[in-house]
Amino acid sequence: MEFKDLGLSEPVLQAIADAGYTTPTPIQEKAIPWVQMGRDVLGCAQTGTGKTAGFTLPMIDALSQGRAKARMPRSLILEPTRELAAQVAENFDKYGKYLKLTKALLIGGVSMDEQEKALDRGVDVLIATPGRLMDLFDRGRILLHDVKILVIDEADRMLDMGFIPDVERIVSLLPPLRQTLFFSATMAPEIRKLADKFLTNPKEVAVSAPAATADTVLQGIVTVAEREKRETLRRLVKAEQIKNALVFCNRKRDVDILWKSLKRHGFSVGALHGDMDQATRTETLEGFKKGDVQILCCSDVAARGLDIGGLSHVFNFDVPINAEDYVHRIGRTGRAGRSGVAYTIATPDDSKFIHAIERLIGKKIPPLAVEGFEAPVADPNAPPVESEREHRGGRERGGRGGRGGRGRGRDRGERAPAPANESRPEEMPAVAGSGWGPSTEAPAEQPPAEMAARTEPAPRAERAPRAQRPARQERAERPAPAPVPLPRREPQPMGAGNPAGRGFDEDGVPAFLLRGRRAAG
Ligand code: AMP
Repeated sequence: MEFKDLGLSEPVLQAIADAGYTTPTPIQEKAIPWVQMGRDVLGCAQTGTGKTAGFTLPMIDALSQGRAKARMPRSLILEPTRELAAQVAENFDKYGKYLKLTKALLIGGVSMDEQEKALDRGVDVLIATPGRLMDLFDRGRILLHDVKILVIDEADRMLDMGFIPDVERIVSLLPPLRQTLFFSATMAPEIRKLADKFLTNPKEVAVSAPAATADTVLQGIVTVAEREKRETLRRLVKAEQIKNALVFCNRKRDVDILWKSLKRHGFSVGALHGDMDQATRTETLEGFKKGDVQILCCSDVAARGLDIGGLSHVFNFDVPINAEDYVHRIGRTGRAGRSGVAYTIATPDDSKFIHAIERLIGKKIPPLAVEGFEAPVADPNAPPVESEREHRGGRERGGRGGRGGRGRGRDRGERAPAPANESRPEEMPAVAGSGWGPSTEAPAEQPPAEMAARTEPAPRAERAPRAQRPARQERAERPAPAPVPLPRREPQPMGAGNPAGRGFDEDGVPAFLLRGRRAAG
């Protein structure tokens, strides 16, 4: 199928051609005709599938007729994060460039003045995060009863972030006679319940299994002691041919620590997390997209759905606690058919999280051998690892989606930043049906023979030295390389080797900022 077969207008087809797209992606092929017919759509698709254009393109055509009145947007797109909202706004600019559509982007962390002025002029498309939209609504700056098309994007993430009460309130302010497009990467029962509430006789479209990882992403996992993680990362980064890389940490605080550490070691690196002010976030992201910095340390919230052209590498500095975050993280690379590499640094205590990930993605993540960093075994005397439920604590007590603890489901980045040294994961979503289980759960199934062949470690003679990489199909027959020699360091107590003698680790990071080093010697 070609774009012209979808019945899109000439100006839109021209903009698509300018963008260099030749054929619609499966989600576009499936969703666009229903959107054009005015039907509600329930779309199960991840970022990276082209879903944004799947709703943006037909919306541009639908909105090209008619005019918006002051403060009364004609369509509304709800996004869970500011970065995603900004990305969708860019999509409207890109695909709507030959049409005169007006739009406003309502996100936290930027001045309201400009946003209010844009609203006063009247907008065809309003793209917003729920918190900022409610703020403006409560100040009487916006009326929602002229919205004809509503898009709820990344619904699973809205749920995880506690935005559903806001979304419900927003939907209650819209006219019942409207078209609603609802997208989610997963279709857990809770999401389906929401969809039932918001949609009328929707057409369901899905493009792939919710938890699929792209075949274009080469995955690997290296298991080391907690204290060796930063050096392992540095070794991996040096051994790989990196164009640009995202490095994910589970906690905002650790993003800062890792960023400073990498900077001290001379890497070209930036940091992105939800406690940073919006101007810095935008500037950092722009710099990374332009190639000013090579590595971006980030948290899940900040990097969710980011579309970074041709990202070569993703490193999980921490194993994600929620298995679905693994899929989202590594989905930043290997997009649009390009190849990418996603390496995860784990400690022995992460094994149950790894098993959950492997069950979710339906395959084993091949181990990487890194010389000098032998996989240590879990210390039986170590204090128990925080359970998933304990990790989630505040979120669940606050009532996920409830109106109690977190008010209207604040976007932590927007309106309720955490204290600087508070130690908590940025994202501890409680996704129903995510496959979590007690540590007695069975390990992931062994890969079938064909997959085992693919995951056999194999050399990359053209690049040396490097970590022993898991093989792609075409590499499987080459002899295995020697692992990258990495220096073996004797376990040191915190602060050893530091002039001050205590209170700092080997990178000079104050001990109070470091989380429990479970496997440290
Ligand atoms: P999305 O899933 O909306 O985040 O889109 C992922 C990436 O695919 C973006 O960089 C889009 O610009 C790109 N894209 C969207 N539609 C197409 C298409 N039909 N052909 C090629 N690339 C596309």
